Amino acid sequence: MSLMRNVFLWSSTNVWMRERATRTAFVRRSVVKFMPGERLEDAIEAAKTLKPVGITTILTRLGENLAHVEEADEVSTHYLKVIDLVKAAGLDAQISVKPTQLGYDQDADVCFRHLVAIADRAVAANNFLWLDMESSKYVDGTIALYKRLRARTPRVGIAIQAYLYRTEKDIEDLVRMGSAIRLVKGAYMEPASVAYPKKADVDANYFKLASRLLDKDTDQPGALLHIATHDIGLQERLQRVIADRKISPRRYEFAMLYGIQSARQRQLAESGVRTRCLISYGEYWFPWYMRRLAERPANVGFVVRNLFGG
Ligand SMILES: Cc1cc2nc3c(=O)[nH]c(=O)nc-3n(C[C@H](O)[C@H](O)[C@H](O)COP(=O)(O)OP(=O)(O)OC[C@H]3O[C@@H](n4cnc5c(N)ncnc54)[C@H](O)[C@@H]3O)c2cc1C
Repeated sequence: MSLMRNVFLWSSTNVWMRERATRTAFVRRSVVKFMPGERLEDAIEAAKTLKPVGITTILTRLGENLAHVEEADEVSTHYLKVIDLVKAAGLDAQISVKPTQLGYDQDADVCFRHLVAIADRAVAANNFLWLDMESSKYVDGTIALYKRLRARTPRVGIAIQAYLYRTEKDIEDLVRMGSAIRLVKGAYMEPASVAYPKKADVDANYFKLASRLLDKDTDQPGALLHIATHDIGLQERLQRVIADRKISPRRYEFAMLYGIQSARQRQLAESGVRTRCLISYGEYWFPWYMRRLAERPANVGFVVRNLFGG
């Protein structure tokens, strides 16, 4: 199945595929499994639906690798509006952004200025800003952006990928400054020179890193662990670590994606475990959707059923 994973991950970066697929009705029908709609209003409505169940949220507008740095102005303005709307709606809905969505490829300083504007608005609204982690060539830059933001406020967090060999060292640095860390397995196509090629090794490293992030010395002001995985076995092993070490619930949250393991999300929230659902929306969903398909072969069956109108 790793061949299929590679095909989807290759497709995620292919412009020709994106332009054709996003015009195709059956692909559009399939994507609704993972996002409530393309509009911000759709995401806010979904967040409102999850609130009574006790599931808090993170909102992200899909988009990455801008063609021109000026496009970042609109993205930044959009997120400022999101923070205002979330506040007005009385939701606990955080924001997550990708550096390349804010012009990082063209100008890291412009990207940083946009991040500061969004972080400042988030702080004023008692909200929180997450930085997504993109492919391995962006890791140094994203960590550097995060550190500069973290020097301004603890209300920022960063995604870190367990499939990268370097992450074990990266987290030590982040731990020292009291960091909110979203630990994920990693969603991009990476060479074996930078990332564990075998899933079993990624899973083992995830457990090791999460356990490290639950050690006593990581309990600094501003620290938080997002256990961002749908892997129930892994979640349960970490719940045992949490119970054995009597770790305070304020130190971690479980985080999952909209439309994936929804019953498990509800079950965790109903049992009193802090659970956050990341809701994506926006028109630029193709690369992100290909990464979701790459994660699980069964999703392909879902697409095929939609192809035949099922
Ligand atoms: C909150 C959150 C934020 C994320 N942010 C980032 C980020 O910033 N950067 C990044 O590189 N990656 C990010 N990811 C994606 C992550 O790296 C993985 O690619 C993804 O979560 C799949 O790995 P897994 O740990 O969930 O479980 P896996 O071990 O891949 O799967 C475990 C089980 O979960 C279910 N499952 C997993 N994925 C799917 C799917 N797509 N469709 C249906 N069922 C599925 C299946 O039942 C599967 O058997 C994020 C994930 C989450 C949950």
